[in-house]
Order: sequence, then C-alpha cells, then structure tokens
Amino acid sequence: MTLSCFDLGEQMLSVDEARQALATLIERPLDSERIPLAQAYGRRLAAAVQAPINVPQNTNAAMDGVALALPRQGVGAKQTHWPLAGEVLAGQYRSELVPAGHCVRITTGAPLPPGTDTVVMSEQLSEPSLDEQPAHVIIASPELLKHGQHVRQAGEDIARGDTALSAGVRIDAASLGLLAALGYAEVTVCRRPKVAIFSTGNEVTAPGEPLPKAGIYDANRFTLIGLLTEQGADVIDLGILPDDLDATKTALKQAAEQSDLVITSGGVSVGQADFTRDALEQLGRLAFWRVALRPGRPMACGWLGETRTPFVGLPGNPVAVMVTFLQFVTTLLDQLHGQSVSPPHRRYAIAGNRLKSRLKRTDFIRGVYHTDEQGQLHVRSTGAQGSGILTSMVAANCLIELADDQDGAQPGEVVSIQPLTGWL
Ligand code: AMP
Ligand code: MG
Repeated sequence: MTLSCFDLGEQMLSVDEARQALATLIERPLDSERIPLAQAYGRRLAAAVQAPINVPQNTNAAMDGVALALPRQGVGAKQTHWPLAGEVLAGQYRSELVPAGHCVRITTGAPLPPGTDTVVMSEQLSEPSLDEQPAHVIIASPELLKHGQHVRQAGEDIARGDTALSAGVRIDAASLGLLAALGYAEVTVCRRPKVAIFSTGNEVTAPGEPLPKAGIYDANRFTLIGLLTEQGADVIDLGILPDDLDATKTALKQAAEQSDLVITSGGVSVGQADFTRDALEQLGRLAFWRVALRPGRPMACGWLGETRTPFVGLPGNPVAVMVTFLQFVTTLLDQLHGQSVSPPHRRYAIAGNRLKSRLKRTDFIRGVYHTDEQGQLHVRSTGAQGSGILTSMVAANCLIELADDQDGAQPGEVVSIQPLTGWL
C-alpha cells in the first residue's frame, strides 16, 4: 500500500517512495474540455478514443494499375489477356461485380470493386495498342501474381471499435493525424493545469533589476516556467516572496485559490529565514520530507487552504529545483491528467569517466550521452556538479541516475540515464 504524503514523518525517503507518496496529494483529475482538433497539439486526452470507423474504410488499391478478379485456382495464374470491365478512380465507388477472369482499371486509394482482390501496377501491364481504347490488358508474367498483392485491407490501419489512443496520452503530430483520419473535428482533452509559482528569499532579485551587493538573480522561476511549459501547463507567475511570514501567507492563500498546483522554490529548509515553512503550516496540511537524493533536499508538500490545492515546496538551489521537478512534479502533473504513476524514462549507457555517488542516496549527475557507430550509448559527466551550478544543466542532455545501492561507478560500467528531452 502506498503511504500518504502525510504519514511519512521524519523518515528518510527513497526517490521512488517519495514519488509514490506525492501522487496521493492529487484528489481529483482536471476537468475536461472539447476543443477543435487543430488546436489540440500538445494537449492530453481526457478519455480513451475509440475508432468509430475502419481506417481505411474500404479495401482499396495501393497502386495505380488494374484490379483483377483472379480466380482462386486454375486459369488465373496462366491468363495473360485480361478483359477490362471498366474503371474505378479514387473517390468513385463501383458496386457491380467484376466477373472472374476480368479486371478494372483502378487508381491508388480507389475501393476494390466486388469480385476483385489483387492489383497489378501499370508498369507491369502491356496494352495491345495506344491509339484505340484497349478492350483488355496483357500481363506478361501471370504466374508471378500473388492473391491480394498491392491491396490495402479495410481496417488494416485501425479497425472500428479498437482503441486508437489511451486516456492521458499527449497529442503529438502522429496522434493529430490519426484523430483526423478517424473523422474527429474536435477532441476532449484535460483542461490545462494552472500552476502558480513563486521564488522565495530576500536575496533573490528579478532579472532586469540592479543586483544588490548580496543579491542573486532569480533563476528558478524561469527554469520552472520552461519546465512547466514543456509539460503543457498554464503558468501563473507570482514573482518573488520576501522572507516575511505575513507576505508569504497572503501570497500562498491567493495562489491556492486560483491554481491547480502551487510550486515554490527555496525557503523550506530549517534555516533562520525560512518563512515559507511557517506560513504553510498555518495555511494547510503540510509534510516536510527528507528525500535521499542529491541534489535535491529538503522538500515540502501538502494541501493549501480550503480548496486543498496541492502544494510542492522545492529546494532553493537551481539544479536541485530542476532535478526534483523532473523526478516529482512531472508525476503530479501525470496524476492531475488522470494517469497513474509511471517510472521515469530510462536508458542505459557505458560510463566514460568515474562517477561519484554515495550508498543509501540516489545521485543525479548531469551527463552528456552519445551513441557510437555500433549503436551503443556512452555517457560522461559534465564536470562540476554543485547544486547551484546551472551551467551543468545547460551542458547536459541527460541525468545520470546512480541508485541508492550504488557506490559510484567506474569507467566501463553500465549506468542508468534519464534523457532530458522536453516533453516527447
Ligand atoms: P534556501 O532553500 O532558501 O535556503 O535556498 C538555497 C540556496 O538557493 C540559496 O543559496 C539561495 O540563494 C538559492 N536560491 C533560492 N532561490 C533561488 C532562486 N529563485 N534563484 C536562484 N537561486 C536561488
Ligand atoms: Mg531562502
């Protein structure tokens, strides 16, 4: 049984335990809305989509040429002269039976008329004369014909009643095409999640302002805007909170009322100026976690206000923000879209250099992976790995994940990586 977010107390959690427990914060999925298909790119389906028709609708020609009424045995394979019984062009439908041993001229995509089941492409036909309308076509090597050749079967792409796309699937270019092929002009998707974000800290300064002597520019709000946009969320950017209890309370309360999820960065450790912690405790039901990962702790989670809006307090250090977002917040967003918790996308690569990590802790090291000519993945770390070194995230194309039972890795060892690929 999965423990709820609030049952965990002060125990040290593994990344997987934290991921599972965090999902219990979501009490109901987002509502759905119907939107035009052309606007659905990147949205997530609110329910599974069934095929209302066969695609293709009819058994049809895959080539321009003739469709033969090829008898099952005997003459068909020996017959070189095929009388023409008419023609069917794409967009036309012929319901009249083609007698065995006859053929019709046909173009790609046209439904095969009854009686026919095999197509011969134009290039393999010789016609008796170019100047008169031929009454038949000549197939030079009829013994090579295969029943059913160059024919697309009705429903071979997708059959009526089959599930075309599952609930929660993010609509990409191929899914847009499939939905269109099924005739859907509109699609029912989850409403975009509204996610309110704050940075916290007296030292944290908005880009564009003069940098105070002890200031630091606010990087986290912008990495969060990027990550949330990749996830298809609507971001409500609520700026920077000072280290002040009342201001923090007011802001969090307002955020909870207008969003589906509130995310802050910084201010959840037990340092002197960490007001978010107190404000949260007064506003809702909160849990503070120690998660055995690096970079990444501490974290807070819970519900804010009467709306019980889910809340996640990420650490303050910029790399820790990105790493914890990718490990935990993406899971919450999946839950909001009605999907169950699934493990992150992992691949395996050979370490190109020595990697440091500690037992009983999952270490996420920024890495660059590539594939060699044999198709083997290799990965190297990006150098300095401090949790404030954002250039390491810029250089990286993956996170190397050294699990809690690993005590570092040597060059040549196979390690798990999580590619950083945006949303696909
Ligand atoms: P805290 O958890 O508030 O103690 O913050 C941990 C570290 O992260 C401190 O060095 C902060 O200055 C830094 N930090 C907190 N918020 C931000 C931010 N929005 N952008 C960049 N660095 C930050
Ligand atoms: Mg702080």
